[in-house]
Amino acid sequence: MLKVHSFESLGTYDGPGIRLVVFLQGCAFKCLYCANPDTITFKGGNATPNEEIMRMARNQKPFFGTIGGITISGGEPLWQAKDLVSLFKELKAEGFRTCIDTNGNVFNDDVIELMEYTDLVLLDIKHINKDWHKTITGSENTTTLKFANHLREINKRTWLRYVLVPGYSDQEEYLNELGNYFKDYQNIEKLEIQPYHTLGVHKYQHLDMEYKLEGVPENTLDQLARAKGILEKYFKQVIIN
Ligand code: SF4
Repeated sequence: MLKVHSFESLGTYDGPGIRLVVFLQGCAFKCLYCANPDTITFKGGNATPNEEIMRMARNQKPFFGTIGGITISGGEPLWQAKDLVSLFKELKAEGFRTCIDTNGNVFNDDVIELMEYTDLVLLDIKHINKDWHKTITGSENTTTLKFANHLREINKRTWLRYVLVPGYSDQEEYLNELGNYFKDYQNIEKLEIQPYHTLGVHKYQHLDMEYKLEGVPENTLDQLARAKGILEKYFKQVIIN
């Protein structure tokens, strides 16, 4: 059974078209800007049988159209890859389109098998520089980059996602390094710049957690346009999400 944090019906943000989004509990990263800090702990979440998710997917199927489907997000969903394999087998057997939104920090045989039943990966790259990655997430990006390489090898449809935090992940030097690193990955269809926002800050107060980016301003339109201009040199398509 999957440990589910929450569901979003008719979501339009996490993958193509209209989607049922399932947020799983637990993540080993501790991103300074995490908008859902309550999904980080591996404790909690509701043990949810596949059948319940299948029932929701069938109910919403009329809204999915020709490109929508189911996205599994988190937290970090790949920690539950073994259980996701059984869910995705059922979803694919009924013709649903499947998508995983992941930070790529788990890479094992279950993840490799899961990719066989996954149509699209939304891969969150937190930073291309390992030291900055550690500053932002508390972990290095080694496993994420290995997972990205696997996606390239199996030619899996991938969208990169990149949160642009002023002073942390918007350095021109590293945006160019990010682009150079991935520019020959033909499986990457686009890069989504995700503007930094502070919408989740109140959750930190509620959880009695310190919000370490206090005082960091949201991006200006100029900063977003500048980052887009740099990244467009390397990726087929760059959008600001
Ligand atoms: S990877 Fe996602 S869920 Fe995990 S801490 Fe970072 S933003 Fe939060």
